[in-house]
Amino acid sequence: MAGLALSDYRRLVVKVGSSLLVGAGGELNRHWLETLSDDVSRLAKDGHEVLIVSSGAIAIGSSVLGINKARARLEDLQAAAAAGQVQLVHAYQDILGLHGISAAQVLLTPDDTENRRRFLNARGTLGRLLGRGVIPIINENDTVATEEIRYGDNDRLAARVAQLVMADALILLSDVDGFYTADPVTNADAEHVPEVKRITNDVLGMAGETRSDVGSGGMATKVQAARIATHAGCSTVIASGTIDHPISALRSGARHTVFRAEGTPAAARKQWLAGALEVQGELCVDEGAVDALRNGKSLLPVGVVDVIGNFRRGDVVNITGPAGEELGRGLAEYANAEASRLIGCQSGQIEDKLGYRGRSVIVHRDELVLFGNDSEEL
Ligand code: GLU
Repeated sequence: MAGLALSDYRRLVVKVGSSLLVGAGGELNRHWLETLSDDVSRLAKDGHEVLIVSSGAIAIGSSVLGINKARARLEDLQAAAAAGQVQLVHAYQDILGLHGISAAQVLLTPDDTENRRRFLNARGTLGRLLGRGVIPIINENDTVATEEIRYGDNDRLAARVAQLVMADALILLSDVDGFYTADPVTNADAEHVPEVKRITNDVLGMAGETRSDVGSGGMATKVQAARIATHAGCSTVIASGTIDHPISALRSGARHTVFRAEGTPAAARKQWLAGALEVQGELCVDEGAVDALRNGKSLLPVGVVDVIGNFRRGDVVNITGPAGEELGRGLAEYANAEASRLIGCQSGQIEDKLGYRGRSVIVHRDELVLFGNDSEEL
């Protein structure tokens, strides 16, 4: 089949399943990780930003602590995750380090992506890491996640991360080479599907019948992850990682399935903001800020002339111009009390006004939709 055109994607999330990284005896498959790191380093050199969502902590930790996964209780698995995670990330750090690339560990719980306040924190940190050429190695914070609040599988976590950072591609590497019309193991008529333009109920239904992976994510969870990501403007690829250099293999035509993104990440974010029903407050801005916003800039404290309503960081606020006209809306980086204190102030004065080193913007341009300006993108 035709190779995957990775040059179409700037920001990629690569999800690595446990079965690829960890052998049956709980040992880390270092050789394979080296080949993946070669690929990641090449992507970085070609100007892509890469985030890795990696499983494997529980599998490694279970062998370190002598825990039998089949009989383990939740606390045992959480302990295994704690012991395994440090080794997992150490391996990434070591191997990426050979390419001169720094790795950073980021552990997330569902609250970090579902709750808008925490979402802004995680997005800010991940953005800063990527801006510095660091590769975030992300996993669920299994040590504190309890059963009810878990993402449950790293496919879903990877999709949420892709949405959070507005990635344009998500690559799910596991031991299956794509999506089939039925379970290829039990059904000789099962056909490989190279491209899915829309994830319809039929597609979800077929996924339900298809087995995959020894990890917790089967084909159904992969397609559900693809649904989250494609709705967020991120194309999703299911591919096999059971070979060395799995990403180079994709470029040169290894079998895979692409689920096409619906629109772009920016349009998806703006559509969500435009449709947000609960608006908690209002920021009135001056002419200078109107121009800056129209030129694609973030809203800075210096351009704010009034703050109305009771809102918290991460709430949706309206932005209005000097004549009271509605310009758009966005996610507030500050609660109303702090925002009021920052009215008209220069970025350099924020720390004096608040008593702590705050963020430099009141509304970040990625979390902002302007009516009129952006409407054609929706
Ligand atoms: N977070 C788990 C781990 O690192 C894996 C979850 C999954 O495989 O989906 O072991």
